[in-house]
Amino acid sequence: MERHRILLADGSNQLIKKIIKAAAHHPYDFEIANDGSELMDKCLSFFPELIYIDLLLPHIHGIELIKKIKSDETLQKCGIILASSSPMIQNYHAAIKEGVNYFLTKPFSIDFLLALFDRFFTIGLTPDPFAEKHETIPEPQPHYSPTHRKKNAFFKFWGTRGSNPVSGTDYVRFGGNTSCLEIRSGEDLIIIDAGTGIRPFGQTLDEDPPRMIHLFLSHTHWDHITGFPFFYPIYHPKCQVTIWSPVGFEKSTQELFTDMLAYAYFPVRLDDIKAQLIFKDLRDGQPVSIGDITIDSHYAYHPGATLCFKFHLNGKTYGYATDNELFLGYLGDPNAIGKDHPLIRDHQSIIHFFKKCDILFHEAQFFPHEYDKRVGWGHSSVSNATILVKHAEIENWIVIHHDPKHTDDELLKKQELHREILKDCHIPCQVQLGYDGMIVPL
Ligand SMILES: [Zn+2]
Ligand SMILES: [Zn+2]
Repeated sequence: MERHRILLADGSNQLIKKIIKAAAHHPYDFEIANDGSELMDKCLSFFPELIYIDLLLPHIHGIELIKKIKSDETLQKCGIILASSSPMIQNYHAAIKEGVNYFLTKPFSIDFLLALFDRFFTIGLTPDPFAEKHETIPEPQPHYSPTHRKKNAFFKFWGTRGSNPVSGTDYVRFGGNTSCLEIRSGEDLIIIDAGTGIRPFGQTLDEDPPRMIHLFLSHTHWDHITGFPFFYPIYHPKCQVTIWSPVGFEKSTQELFTDMLAYAYFPVRLDDIKAQLIFKDLRDGQPVSIGDITIDSHYAYHPGATLCFKFHLNGKTYGYATDNELFLGYLGDPNAIGKDHPLIRDHQSIIHFFKKCDILFHEAQFFPHEYDKRVGWGHSSVSNATILVKHAEIENWIVIHHDPKHTDDELLKKQELHREILKDCHIPCQVQLGYDGMIVPL
């Protein structure tokens, strides 16, 4: 029987071993890759006929890998099965557009995967329509819901709102600007995200902004970039602003910023900006050091290429995730998700990334009763975010990226719910909601 070459690329060695074991009597020769760079190397030495790729493979996002493979003449004909434990419709469409043969939802049975291999090499493989994942795990138990923190080295939140800015008397306590975090340690200015909060921040820098500014973007959704044109230091010729961002599916960040600053939207073009702008790519698992801070990245569960961050400073670590839909579609009791539960197995990598952070800044945008109508929107419910907090053994959690619909009163109720859920789950974690202007000393 003719033998076929299949390349298996997944961050989980355990899963790869299982597949190879189960396929022992099938006519396949396997090669394996544990991250995106390794995958590209193996493609060019092994010349696979079919590749299985996990969407959130370390180092290079799955969609970017598919583009690379499909643009290489020697690999164009190679079949691709893309697997994801967080099947979001935007990622599905991007994958199909780039030419994947099948979009596979995790967890899957190994027998099903082997049947897909077989189908590919016999009658051919075409993608099924997008199907949302419906968890059938425990009963929905909508009972849910966690202290405190407050200059030389510090974090300051200039925007803690998600999705869209809000204003008015209902939003006075927590504020209405979208994502922007200032990080200070010595001379270095690091900013995470350029939501509307970056505008008032830029004003405080006034006539004498720091010469070197590093702006990290978790992703390029509007609520994380829309303040950029209003950030005063970009108009100051002495400034050098390095913009670090994940590699997007459609256009580079520089192209997106050029589009955003077209005359139709804004009177100043990117070329007219006086500061020196440098665009750099950020990749999952490839840390960047700025002064005494090291910034590590990990892909988030969110439409498009989106990163979570982890900051290392003075022997402490701080996690940051504004847009991260954990345990997609799970509506049940967080207590029911023990360490051997399949959902935990699929989230090992992100749990490991945030493990024992001294403080975790993480979203929990939806009340549990809101989440069932917003599955796949890219944001976590309070209870699902709690599952991460439990397994990552977090003792201090600051909740960020508040939903624009949530007024101050609702956010106070949500804070109580956070505390109730943590108590219900016996998790010794202090929680509080972040607010615009909040300072956390480092
Ligand atoms: Zn966002
Ligand atoms: Zn987003």
